[in-house]
Amino acid sequence: MNKSFKLEDGNFSGEIRMRIGVIAIQGDVSEHVHAVDNALSELGESSDIVEIKHSGIVPECDALILPGGESTTLGRLLLKEGISEEIKQAASAGIPIMGTCAGLILLAQRGDVQVAKTHQHLLGLMDTKVNRNAFGRQRESFETYMELPFLDSPYRAVFIRAPAIVDAGPDVEVLSKIDDKIVAARQSNILAFAFHPELTDDLRIHRYFLNMIREY
Ligand code: GLN
Repeated sequence: MNKSFKLEDGNFSGEIRMRIGVIAIQGDVSEHVHAVDNALSELGESSDIVEIKHSGIVPECDALILPGGESTTLGRLLLKEGISEEIKQAASAGIPIMGTCAGLILLAQRGDVQVAKTHQHLLGLMDTKVNRNAFGRQRESFETYMELPFLDSPYRAVFIRAPAIVDAGPDVEVLSKIDDKIVAARQSNILAFAFHPELTDDLRIHRYFLNMIREY
């Protein structure tokens, strides 16, 4: 974390400036950058948001976001660019990481037949098993209201060809389910959503993630 100092009421006060990295190889990167930026402004904070396209940047970040996109492509490029190993190291150092949609797939330890068939690279940071297209063709895209334990009113979630967690170990805190499918979960410093908080104006999930970074 970079500590910068700003002049406040004539006195120097320490301001903690975070560096939040968004994996920017493919997927809805700008939407996450925008959402983090807006959530920070709402809180009256400023931090650096960096787009990560190659290795060497992850070790300098205080938090990471894995966006939605195409998980096979994302996985392959993370591995090729050497970013995959850096993310694993950051995770074990306790750096907060949030994955949305394809990001939730990448965070998992285990996958379904489709994951095996496509030789999908998984980071394996959560004790979860994922189903890549859990809601099938008929419900490719939909929106629904859900309760999340850290919010005091329902959240409208946008699902697009969404995956789901179909099995989770004891260390995984289930935050929300649709039928028997887990669509939001947390395991220590890792947070995963099957939907897209970056595609709505409701910034409460990004705000929750910013609080996780502050607690780190
Ligand atoms: N189902 C997609 C995949 O397997 C993820 C969809 C998304 O991120 N919107 O990569």
